[in-house]
Amino acid sequence: MKICRFNNNRLGVVDLEKGVVSDVTRALEVLGMQTYPLPGYDLLIKELPKIKRAIRAELPTARKLALHKVKLLAPVANPGKIIGAPINYHDHINEVSANASLAHGRDMGGAAIYKWGLFLKARSSLVGPSQGVKLRQPFTDMENRNDHEVELVAVIGKKGTHISRDDALGYVAGYCIGLDMTLRGPQFAGFRKSIDTYAVLGPWMVTADEFGDPGDVRLALSVNGESRQNASTQQLIYDIPRLIEFASSFYTLEPGDLIYTGTPAGVGPVKTGDTIEANIEGIGNMSVQVH
Ligand code: MN
Repeated sequence: MKICRFNNNRLGVVDLEKGVVSDVTRALEVLGMQTYPLPGYDLLIKELPKIKRAIRAELPTARKLALHKVKLLAPVANPGKIIGAPINYHDHINEVSANASLAHGRDMGGAAIYKWGLFLKARSSLVGPSQGVKLRQPFTDMENRNDHEVELVAVIGKKGTHISRDDALGYVAGYCIGLDMTLRGPQFAGFRKSIDTYAVLGPWMVTADEFGDPGDVRLALSVNGESRQNASTQQLIYDIPRLIEFASSFYTLEPGDLIYTGTPAGVGPVKTGDTIEANIEGIGNMSVQVH
């Protein structure tokens, strides 16, 4: 099932063959009323099995809208954590090692994640594709180069800590396309990568049962029609089970937590007016404007 959030926080199911979104917002009624303090996890993802049953009941009579006319928002509205994986594709290590402006003096030998760990992006950086990326030129003596990074994003479906590699995929609710937009520079990753709109998530979430094995899926990105990135998750250094095992050895993972799994070679700058097209096999296309 491809679940989206669209327009004014409507809940939808996407049918790619027909190019339509079914409005199943009434399924959200199963979530009930919440009171302060709100939970630190995403309620929709926490209750996904219930929500899916309610969606199936709504689908036959749901209003249908043309997919190209709706404004797609981030399919997970309230992730407690947005976790990022630095330099996690074999070909991206070579690219960073060969380019001083990407490396900033860091030693690129070996598994970067093992040495540096993961990083966290602020929740305030999260947007959906319809909102676009708004570039900033912050105070820094660097060149303010803003790069695209296409990434497969795993959405955690249930609470877990010290999750073993063998159990890890059972904790995934679904998958999305992510853009881990990045201001290049020597600053901490969580600082540079947390600018408002620098975590794009969309265009919908494909549930894990439909998506299947994330171990060998193609991902690609183009800017204004020019191909920039094209790879397979087979080239990941820490694959998704290992990322979940590693992240959950530090943190308790909660429903709705997002793991941006890293980007392959081909990162490059974007500027105002550009159109980014990202594609991941089994999910679809996501178009994002740069403002
Ligand atoms: Mn990244």
